[in-house]
Amino acid sequence: MAAMPIRKVFRELFRGALDALIPPLCRGCEQEWADFLCPSCEQELEKLRLPLQVCTTCGMPMESRQCFRCSRFGKPFAFQKARASFYYAGVVKTLIRKAKYEGYPDLLLSLAEHTLLDWPVTSQAVVPIPGNPERSRERGYRPSRMLGELIASTLELPFLDVLRARKSAPQVEQRSYAARIQNATGKFQVKAPASLPPSVLLVDDVITTGATVHEAARVLKRHGVREVQVWTLASEIPEFLLPPGITP
Ligand SMILES: [Zn+2]
Ligand SMILES: [Zn+2]
Repeated sequence: MAAMPIRKVFRELFRGALDALIPPLCRGCEQEWADFLCPSCEQELEKLRLPLQVCTTCGMPMESRQCFRCSRFGKPFAFQKARASFYYAGVVKTLIRKAKYEGYPDLLLSLAEHTLLDWPVTSQAVVPIPGNPERSRERGYRPSRMLGELIASTLELPFLDVLRARKSAPQVEQRSYAARIQNATGKFQVKAPASLPPSVLLVDDVITTGATVHEAARVLKRHGVREVQVWTLASEIPEFLLPPGITP
């Protein structure tokens, strides 16, 4: 676990006993605040909701029918439609990073509770993106699985954890788009000859280039799935498209 301020360590050790002595903190900025987010972080969270005018395919906040992320890909994504709830920036990024790298899975759920699935989900099952098994073991949970279960129970759909990462190649942070596509190809397989419905919703925490969800959708389609929708908690958006006043 990453180093954390001593007061947070105390809080973890003596949760409850010390709650009366140490004032609770906003989970975004860590100022004293009794709820999930202080008013200023709450306000920022509202600004970070993705607008309704987005690329019809990948959910990039642009009014044109096809955004540069989709046109750059050169051929269609294997999924039909991807939508995210928040920009991956500001307080949203802080909360997701704390959840993933500092061991606070409850933050992902709290954030997910603030999302609205305000587009018609026509899928018949929910499939999470596989995680790196080692990282999941370290963390004790898998973000995509936790979010997938939440979405499945909200939509009353079956939860099918049918994909697995084929090999645990060293996870290098790939920034280049071509490198990410290359890296994702062949990454997943379907665990068992599962019976999959014709239409599924893929779930992950963050969409960046779309390469990972594209590859997962491609593999599912080889196993009889015809339509793949994607939902992620957040979408990494180029800085020039962020709302004013938001830090990347
Ligand atoms: Zn705050
Ligand atoms: Zn797009």
